[in-house]
Amino acid sequence: METMWAPWRSEYINNNNDTEKPNNICVFCDALTTTDDHERHIIYRGEYAFVILNKFPYNNGHMLVMPKRHISRPDMMTDQERYEIMNLIVKAQIVLYQVYNPHGVNIGANIGEAAGAGIAQHMHFHVLPRWNADANFMTTVANTRVIPESLDETWVKIRKAWN
Ligand SMILES: [Zn+2]
Repeated sequence: METMWAPWRSEYINNNNDTEKPNNICVFCDALTTTDDHERHIIYRGEYAFVILNKFPYNNGHMLVMPKRHISRPDMMTDQERYEIMNLIVKAQIVLYQVYNPHGVNIGANIGEAAGAGIAQHMHFHVLPRWNADANFMTTVANTRVIPESLDETWVKIRKAWN
């Protein structure tokens, strides 16, 4: 039997209580209201969409690309959002190759909790670097990975390459 495997599904699984603020403001919308991109690890703010580091990365450089609007499905996106988001996904992929020189890149989205979305109410695309055989023992057994680089370090590297 073949196992369907998507690394971004581990997002926020161990942190379900952290996905919503007490006042029910979504973490992504909340990050957008701040002005400190470094503190919230926002890489880029576009007109209709933005790019932010995944707080619980599968690999160093794991980015999330999403509409600024709090919407839950791709069919709710306007043409402008679709256009900008696809361009940002491509840019994120280019930056990942520049900064990390990975063997491959995963681009994907989980729509709805049943599909594995950690924050289903605000849809987002994952863009993350992959290396041959990086599905290590910890991932297989504990759904956990050792991340050697801090989010601050990642933010500095990616932000610099992005600009
Ligand atoms: Zn939101």
